[in-house]
Amino acid sequence: MPEGKIIKALSGFYYVESQGEIYQCRARGNFRKRKLTPLVGDIVQFEAENKTDGYILGLKDRFNELIRPPIANVEQAILVFSAMEPKFSTLLLNRFLVHIESNQIEPIICVSKIDLLKPEHREEINEFIADYVKLGYTVLKTSIYMEELIEEVRPWLNGKTSVFAGQSGVGKSSLLNSLKPELQLETNEISSHLGRGKHTTRHVELIPIGTGLVADTPGFSSLEFTEIEAEHLSDCFPEMRERAHLCKFRGCTHSSEPKCAVRADVEAGEIAAYRYEDYLSFLDEIKQQKRRY
Ligand code: GDP
Ligand code: ZN
Repeated sequence: MPEGKIIKALSGFYYVESQGEIYQCRARGNFRKRKLTPLVGDIVQFEAENKTDGYILGLKDRFNELIRPPIANVEQAILVFSAMEPKFSTLLLNRFLVHIESNQIEPIICVSKIDLLKPEHREEINEFIADYVKLGYTVLKTSIYMEELIEEVRPWLNGKTSVFAGQSGVGKSSLLNSLKPELQLETNEISSHLGRGKHTTRHVELIPIGTGLVADTPGFSSLEFTEIEAEHLSDCFPEMRERAHLCKFRGCTHSSEPKCAVRADVEAGEIAAYRYEDYLSFLDEIKQQKRRY
Protein backbone atom coordinates (compact mmCIF):
# COMPACT_ATOMS: atom_id res chain seq x y z
CA MET A 1 0.00 0.00 0.00
CA PRO A 2 1.43 3.42 -0.92
CA GLU A 3 2.63 5.70 1.84
CA GLY A 4 2.78 9.47 1.80
CA LYS A 5 2.81 12.59 3.89
CA ILE A 6 -0.13 14.92 4.44
CA ILE A 7 1.02 18.36 3.34
CA LYS A 8 -2.33 20.18 3.55
CA ALA A 9 -5.75 19.66 5.14
CA LEU A 10 -8.69 21.65 3.84
CA SER A 11 -12.48 21.24 3.95
CA GLY A 12 -12.38 17.54 4.81
CA PHE A 13 -9.73 16.71 2.22
CA TYR A 14 -6.20 15.67 2.93
CA TYR A 15 -3.53 16.31 0.34
CA VAL A 16 -1.05 13.50 0.44
CA GLU A 17 2.37 13.81 -1.15
CA SER A 18 3.87 10.56 -2.34
CA GLN A 19 6.84 10.21 -4.68
CA GLY A 20 6.46 13.70 -6.07
CA GLU A 21 2.71 13.45 -6.71
CA ILE A 22 -0.17 14.94 -4.72
CA TYR A 23 -3.30 12.85 -4.02
CA GLN A 24 -6.53 14.38 -2.74
CA CYS A 25 -7.85 11.99 -0.10
CA ARG A 26 -10.61 11.61 2.45
CA ALA A 27 -10.30 9.79 5.75
CA ARG A 28 -12.19 6.48 5.88
CA GLY A 29 -15.12 6.34 8.29
CA ASN A 30 -13.45 3.92 10.68
CA PHE A 31 -10.84 6.60 11.24
CA ARG A 32 -13.36 9.05 12.56
CA LYS A 33 -14.88 6.45 14.86
CA ARG A 34 -11.49 5.95 16.48
CA LYS A 35 -11.37 9.72 17.09
CA LEU A 36 -8.08 9.81 15.28
CA THR A 37 -7.89 12.90 13.14
CA PRO A 38 -5.13 12.94 10.57
CA LEU A 39 -2.85 15.95 10.87
CA VAL A 40 -0.69 17.81 8.43
CA GLY A 41 2.70 16.13 8.71
CA ASP A 42 1.28 12.66 9.29
CA ILE A 43 2.75 9.74 7.37
CA VAL A 44 -0.23 7.82 6.04
CA GLN A 45 -1.08 4.67 4.15
CA PHE A 46 -3.58 5.43 1.44
CA GLU A 47 -5.21 4.04 -1.67
CA ALA A 48 -6.00 6.12 -4.72
CA GLU A 49 -7.22 5.09 -8.16
CA ASN A 50 -6.61 8.62 -9.38
CA LYS A 51 -5.34 11.94 -8.06
CA THR A 52 -8.63 13.13 -6.60
CA ASP A 53 -10.46 10.16 -5.06
CA GLY A 54 -8.04 8.73 -2.54
CA TYR A 55 -8.65 7.28 0.88
CA ILE A 56 -6.46 7.40 3.92
CA LEU A 57 -6.46 3.98 5.54
CA GLY A 58 -3.94 4.26 8.33
CA LEU A 59 -1.35 6.49 9.86
CA LYS A 60 2.04 6.00 11.41
CA ASP A 61 2.68 6.82 15.06
CA ARG A 62 3.69 10.45 15.48
CA PHE A 63 6.94 11.30 17.17
CA ASN A 64 5.59 14.72 18.12
CA GLU A 65 2.54 16.89 17.60
CA LEU A 66 2.36 20.67 17.74
CA ILE A 67 -0.90 22.29 18.73
CA ARG A 68 -0.41 25.68 17.15
CA PRO A 69 -0.08 25.26 14.27
CA PRO A 70 -1.45 21.71 14.27
CA ILE A 71 1.34 19.71 12.65
CA ALA A 72 2.71 16.26 13.36
CA ASN A 73 6.27 14.97 13.02
CA VAL A 74 8.10 18.29 13.04
CA GLU A 75 11.81 17.55 12.92
CA GLN A 76 13.32 20.99 12.99
CA ALA A 77 12.53 24.53 14.13
CA ILE A 78 14.14 27.53 12.48
CA LEU A 79 14.26 29.84 15.43
CA VAL A 80 14.45 33.41 14.16
CA PHE A 81 15.83 36.03 16.53
CA SER A 82 16.61 39.49 15.23
CA ALA A 83 19.92 41.13 16.11
CA MET A 84 17.98 44.42 16.29
CA GLU A 85 14.34 45.57 16.07
CA PRO A 86 13.32 43.84 18.26
CA LYS A 87 16.57 43.62 20.21
CA PHE A 88 18.14 40.21 20.75
CA SER A 89 16.92 38.64 24.00
CA THR A 90 18.62 35.57 25.42
CA LEU A 91 15.79 35.12 27.95
CA LEU A 92 13.26 34.73 25.17
CA LEU A 93 15.64 32.59 23.14
CA ASN A 94 16.11 30.24 26.09
CA ARG A 95 12.36 30.04 26.53
CA PHE A 96 11.85 29.07 22.89
CA LEU A 97 14.67 26.55 23.09
CA VAL A 98 13.03 24.81 26.06
CA HIS A 99 9.79 24.42 24.11
CA ILE A 100 11.58 23.18 21.03
CA GLU A 101 13.79 20.74 22.94
CA SER A 102 10.89 19.39 24.98
CA ASN A 103 9.12 18.47 21.74
CA GLN A 104 12.19 16.57 20.48
CA ILE A 105 12.69 19.10 17.72
CA GLU A 106 16.13 20.08 16.47
CA PRO A 107 16.60 23.88 16.59
CA ILE A 108 18.50 26.01 14.09
CA ILE A 109 19.01 29.52 15.43
CA CYS A 110 18.93 32.31 12.84
CA VAL A 111 20.13 35.71 14.02
CA SER A 112 18.20 37.84 11.58
CA LYS A 113 18.43 41.47 10.40
CA ILE A 114 22.19 41.29 10.74
CA ASP A 115 22.36 44.28 8.37
CA LEU A 116 20.91 46.46 11.15
CA LEU A 117 23.63 45.54 13.62
CA LYS A 118 25.73 48.58 14.54
CA PRO A 119 29.47 48.07 15.07
CA GLU A 120 29.14 48.76 18.82
CA HIS A 121 26.72 45.81 19.23
CA ARG A 122 28.60 43.37 17.07
CA GLU A 123 30.87 42.02 19.76
CA GLU A 124 28.04 41.42 22.23
CA ILE A 125 26.00 39.47 19.66
CA ASN A 126 29.05 37.47 18.57
CA GLU A 127 29.71 36.46 22.17
CA PHE A 128 26.14 35.22 22.56
CA ILE A 129 26.43 33.33 19.29
CA ALA A 130 29.66 31.72 20.48
CA ASP A 131 27.91 30.62 23.71
CA TYR A 132 25.11 28.89 21.80
CA VAL A 133 27.52 27.29 19.35
CA LYS A 134 29.46 25.94 22.32
CA LEU A 135 26.23 24.36 23.58
CA GLY A 136 26.02 22.48 20.30
CA TYR A 137 23.40 24.63 18.56
CA THR A 138 23.65 25.60 14.93
CA VAL A 139 23.58 29.38 14.62
CA LEU A 140 23.27 31.19 11.28
CA LYS A 141 23.36 34.92 10.64
CA THR A 142 20.75 36.11 8.17
CA SER A 143 19.57 39.21 6.40
CA ILE A 144 17.02 39.39 3.64
CA TYR A 145 19.28 41.99 2.03
CA MET A 146 22.25 39.63 1.81
CA GLU A 147 21.61 36.88 -0.71
CA GLU A 148 24.71 34.89 0.30
CA LEU A 149 23.35 34.57 3.86
CA ILE A 150 19.96 33.35 2.63
CA GLU A 151 21.77 30.70 0.59
CA GLU A 152 23.46 29.48 3.77
CA VAL A 153 20.04 28.72 5.31
CA ARG A 154 18.85 26.68 2.35
CA PRO A 155 20.85 23.45 2.86
CA TRP A 156 19.59 23.16 6.45
CA LEU A 157 16.01 22.80 5.19
CA ASN A 158 16.77 19.86 2.92
CA GLY A 159 15.26 16.49 3.74
CA LYS A 160 13.42 17.68 6.85
CA THR A 161 10.06 19.01 7.98
CA SER A 162 10.62 22.40 9.62
CA VAL A 163 8.62 25.15 11.27
CA PHE A 164 9.72 28.72 11.69
CA ALA A 165 9.43 30.15 15.20
CA GLY A 166 10.23 33.40 16.94
CA GLN A 167 8.46 36.48 18.23
CA SER A 168 6.46 38.74 15.97
CA GLY A 169 8.44 41.17 13.83
CA VAL A 170 11.77 39.30 13.79
CA GLY A 171 11.49 38.58 10.08
CA LYS A 172 10.15 35.02 9.82
CA SER A 173 7.83 35.74 6.90
CA SER A 174 10.45 37.87 5.18
CA LEU A 175 12.99 35.07 5.46
CA LEU A 176 10.52 32.53 4.10
CA ASN A 177 9.70 34.85 1.21
CA SER A 178 13.41 35.23 0.47
CA LEU A 179 13.79 31.45 0.41
CA LYS A 180 10.68 30.99 -1.73
CA PRO A 181 9.57 34.23 -3.43
CA GLU A 182 6.34 32.76 -4.85
CA LEU A 183 5.02 32.34 -1.30
CA GLN A 184 4.39 36.08 -0.97
CA LEU A 185 3.58 35.86 2.73
CA GLU A 186 2.39 39.08 4.25
CA THR A 187 5.14 40.80 6.19
CA ASN A 188 5.78 43.53 8.78
CA GLU A 189 4.83 43.68 12.40
CA ILE A 190 1.67 45.78 12.10
CA SER A 191 -0.11 43.61 9.56
CA SER A 192 0.83 40.36 11.28
CA HIS A 193 -0.68 41.72 14.50
CA LEU A 194 -3.90 42.70 12.77
CA GLY A 195 -3.88 39.42 10.90
CA ARG A 196 -3.76 37.30 14.01
CA GLY A 197 -7.45 36.39 13.83
CA LYS A 198 -7.00 35.53 10.23
CA HIS A 199 -4.07 33.26 11.05
CA THR A 200 -6.12 31.11 13.42
CA THR A 201 -8.70 30.28 10.77
CA ARG A 202 -6.17 29.78 8.02
CA HIS A 203 -5.19 26.27 7.07
CA VAL A 204 -1.64 25.11 7.57
CA GLU A 205 0.35 23.90 4.65
CA LEU A 206 3.75 22.30 4.29
CA ILE A 207 5.60 24.03 1.49
CA PRO A 208 8.41 22.30 -0.39
CA ILE A 209 11.69 24.22 -0.28
CA GLY A 210 14.57 22.30 -1.82
CA THR A 211 14.09 18.70 -0.66
CA GLY A 212 12.54 19.81 2.63
CA LEU A 213 9.07 20.83 3.77
CA VAL A 214 8.41 24.03 5.71
CA ALA A 215 5.19 25.01 7.50
CA ASP A 216 3.78 28.26 6.14
CA THR A 217 2.56 29.26 9.65
CA PRO A 218 5.01 29.87 12.49
CA GLY A 219 5.04 27.49 15.46
CA PHE A 220 5.15 27.91 19.24
CA SER A 221 2.75 30.81 19.60
CA SER A 222 2.20 29.90 23.25
CA LEU A 223 5.30 29.82 25.41
CA GLU A 224 3.77 28.80 28.72
CA PHE A 225 5.36 25.85 30.43
CA THR A 226 2.11 23.98 31.05
CA GLU A 227 3.33 20.76 29.46
CA ILE A 228 6.77 20.57 31.05
CA GLU A 229 7.47 18.88 34.38
CA ALA A 230 9.89 20.60 36.76
CA GLU A 231 12.15 17.53 36.89
CA HIS A 232 12.39 17.41 33.10
CA LEU A 233 13.22 21.07 32.56
CA SER A 234 16.97 20.59 32.83
CA ASP A 235 16.82 17.98 30.02
CA CYS A 236 16.06 20.92 27.74
CA PHE A 237 19.38 22.59 28.63
CA PRO A 238 22.25 20.72 26.91
CA GLU A 239 24.83 21.94 29.44
CA MET A 240 22.74 20.46 32.30
CA ARG A 241 21.67 17.35 30.45
CA GLU A 242 25.30 16.35 29.89
CA ARG A 243 26.28 16.92 33.54
CA ALA A 244 23.24 15.47 35.32
CA HIS A 245 24.97 12.11 35.91
CA LEU A 246 27.64 13.93 37.94
CA CYS A 247 25.18 15.33 40.49
CA LYS A 248 24.96 13.48 43.78
CA PHE A 249 21.21 12.99 43.61
CA ARG A 250 19.30 11.36 40.81
CA GLY A 251 16.64 13.73 39.56
CA CYS A 252 18.63 16.70 40.87
CA THR A 253 16.91 19.94 39.79
CA HIS A 254 20.20 21.83 40.19
CA SER A 255 18.57 24.43 42.42
CA SER A 256 19.31 23.74 46.10
CA GLU A 257 20.46 20.11 46.25
CA PRO A 258 23.91 19.51 47.76
CA LYS A 259 26.82 18.31 45.59
CA CYS A 260 25.24 19.53 42.40
CA ALA A 261 27.65 19.38 39.45
CA VAL A 262 25.68 21.96 37.50
CA ARG A 263 25.80 24.56 40.27
CA ALA A 264 29.50 23.90 40.76
CA ASP A 265 30.13 24.57 37.08
CA VAL A 266 28.06 27.75 37.15
CA GLU A 267 30.26 28.95 40.00
CA ALA A 268 33.37 27.91 38.11
CA GLY A 269 32.19 29.89 35.09
CA GLU A 270 31.91 26.76 32.93
CA ILE A 271 28.18 27.25 32.49
CA ALA A 272 26.89 30.68 31.42
CA ALA A 273 25.29 32.29 34.46
CA TYR A 274 22.54 33.95 32.42
CA ARG A 275 21.45 30.54 31.12
CA TYR A 276 21.37 29.14 34.63
CA GLU A 277 19.42 32.13 35.97
CA ASP A 278 16.84 31.73 33.22
CA TYR A 279 16.62 28.04 34.06
CA LEU A 280 15.88 28.88 37.71
CA SER A 281 13.20 31.38 36.77
CA PHE A 282 11.54 28.85 34.42
CA LEU A 283 11.69 26.24 37.17
CA ASP A 284 10.00 28.67 39.52
CA GLU A 285 7.34 29.42 36.93
CA ILE A 286 6.58 25.71 36.50
CA LYS A 287 6.34 25.16 40.25
CA GLN A 288 3.99 28.10 40.67
CA GLN A 289 1.79 26.81 37.87
CA LYS A 290 1.59 23.45 39.62
CA ARG A 291 0.44 25.16 42.81
CA ARG A 292 -2.32 26.95 40.95
CA TYR A 293 -3.89 23.77 39.55
P1 GDP B 1 7.55 38.20 11.29
O1 GDP B 1 6.46 38.82 12.13
O2 GDP B 1 8.55 37.48 12.14
O3 GDP B 1 7.04 37.36 10.18
O4 GDP B 1 8.39 39.43 10.66
P2 GDP B 1 8.25 40.05 9.19
O5 GDP B 1 8.83 39.14 8.18
O6 GDP B 1 6.84 40.50 9.00
O7 GDP B 1 9.25 41.30 9.31
C1 GDP B 1 9.03 42.37 10.22
C2 GDP B 1 9.73 43.61 9.71
O8 GDP B 1 11.15 43.41 9.69
C3 GDP B 1 9.34 43.98 8.28
O9 GDP B 1 9.19 45.38 8.20
C4 GDP B 1 10.50 43.51 7.45
O10 GDP B 1 10.69 44.25 6.28
C5 GDP B 1 11.67 43.71 8.39
N1 GDP B 1 12.77 42.77 8.12
C6 GDP B 1 12.66 41.42 7.98
N2 GDP B 1 13.87 40.86 7.73
C7 GDP B 1 14.76 41.88 7.72
C8 GDP B 1 16.19 41.95 7.53
O11 GDP B 1 16.89 40.95 7.31
N3 GDP B 1 16.76 43.19 7.62
C9 GDP B 1 16.03 44.31 7.86
N4 GDP B 1 16.67 45.49 7.94
N5 GDP B 1 14.69 44.28 8.05
C10 GDP B 1 14.06 43.09 7.97
ZN1 ZN C 1 22.40 19.04 40.01
